[in-house]
Amino acid sequence: MGPTRRILFGALAAPLLALRPAAADDGERLGRLAAAYPDHIARREGADLVWRDGTRMATGAGAPERPFEVMLRDATLADQMRQAYPAGPPAGPPPRNHSPGRLRNTAFFVKMYGDCRHGGAQGRHRTVTWMPKTRPQALPVTTVNDVATRLERVVADLEGLPDRLKAYLVPSAGTFNCRTVADTGLLSMHAHAAAIDLAVAHSDYWSWARARGDIPYRNRIPYAIAEVFEAHRFIWGGKWYHYDTMHFEYRPELIGGS
Ligand SMILES: [Zn+2]
Repeated sequence: MGPTRRILFGALAAPLLALRPAAADDGERLGRLAAAYPDHIARREGADLVWRDGTRMATGAGAPERPFEVMLRDATLADQMRQAYPAGPPAGPPPRNHSPGRLRNTAFFVKMYGDCRHGGAQGRHRTVTWMPKTRPQALPVTTVNDVATRLERVVADLEGLPDRLKAYLVPSAGTFNCRTVADTGLLSMHAHAAAIDLAVAHSDYWSWARARGDIPYRNRIPYAIAEVFEAHRFIWGGKWYHYDTMHFEYRPELIGGS
């Protein structure tokens, strides 16, 4: 093949190769997103999600991937599903900018959980007792998607772990906090009362490292703890490049379980 033909072939084939698998992947992933929130989402229809109340939300399906920092501040629903959450014990530090779960479409979660900035979420909270046999602590958790009940199942399983692991769990640094994430300005899953932080004493957070360039990974939380949360479809911030090792949030679209 001469140079001209090679250039032509490249110019024609590259977009097809890039777009076709992406669009197919988006369809499969958005089907998983719809299935993960059956109380709210009726179905995926083409590039839209259709809510049970009839609301249609555009997903951005089929659009090319944008730089991580751009998606982080303005994630479409397709972006929200773009990074796969790895199952099981971590094989090593997360790859650069692989922070599955940090890409969140704000409109989606605000519609589902209510907007705490206008008092729209707090009426849906109830109290969950964190670690009642170890160091009881009353924490507000959303009842939307049965998150409060699911967290109680997590608590029951955590109470069964060896006592040496309890120091990582108590006291919890909290669940509900109507706040934004420092580096994005967008609502945290704590604003939706669908997240919990473990004890600060044994935790590590990427921005504490104050690194230039690559972020050096650091974690002291045993995976046995994260494994319990993951079984109930809470993802762990310890699997993020931008690690937040005390942080767990309910994200059933990214992880299987009960
Ligand atoms: Zn947190």
